[in-house]
Amino acid sequence: MLKALLDLLYPPACIACAKVLPGPGSFFCETCDTAVERLPPACCRTCAEPGTFPGGACPRCRAAPPPFSRAWAPFAHEGPLARAIHRFKYEDHPELAAPLAELLADEARDFLGRAPACVVALPLHTRRYHARKYDQAQLLAGVLAKRTGREAPVGWLSRTRETQRQVGLNEAERARNVASAFTAAAHVKGREVLLVDDVFTTGATARAAATALREAGAVRVEVLTLARAFSLT
Ligand SMILES: [Zn+2]
Ligand SMILES: [Zn+2]
Repeated sequence: MLKALLDLLYPPACIACAKVLPGPGSFFCETCDTAVERLPPACCRTCAEPGTFPGGACPRCRAAPPPFSRAWAPFAHEGPLARAIHRFKYEDHPELAAPLAELLADEARDFLGRAPACVVALPLHTRRYHARKYDQAQLLAGVLAKRTGREAPVGWLSRTRETQRQVGLNEAERARNVASAFTAAAHVKGREVLLVDDVFTTGATARAAATALREAGAVRVEVLTLARAFSLT
């Protein structure tokens, strides 16, 4: 009943270009599907930065080992996938949380097979949440958790300091912008946490969030995002 109603309100459409699809079962139209770029298999074994690195660790992870044990994304932040994320984040399409989370669950099956059972979203600051009316990472985390039999507790991680958008900032500025921006609740003590967000770029935000979780006692943090920007090019 609810499913039929939702199909009526949101007929299956390409998540990138909104073209109506002939039926359910796919996320993209044919044109977009062929243009989707997956993350190359050769990448940093800790943070998934694309490339072949000595010892398997990219220069960034070698210079400063991250507070998370691994970070991964199935897609490159390019083309139709970047377009879908933009629609989801900035063009008032919260309903894209469901197909994007399903897509993530399908494409990250191997990663998820060994990932923590507790999903925590990288949160927005309250003021930005009120402006956007939804927290895209929280929606994504909620559907992903449901779909993969995990829990997605709310309030375990919050952004306590308002930060500038990372877009347009260089690496050092990004790190400064998000430093100590997050606070984790005492519930995380002794837990393993899967941190979920839409895009991973330099990892500055994921590092700041994982640091807050580890400082509050989380024993292991892993990071899963939909897309990975190629940050060292
Ligand atoms: Zn399309
Ligand atoms: Zn790395």
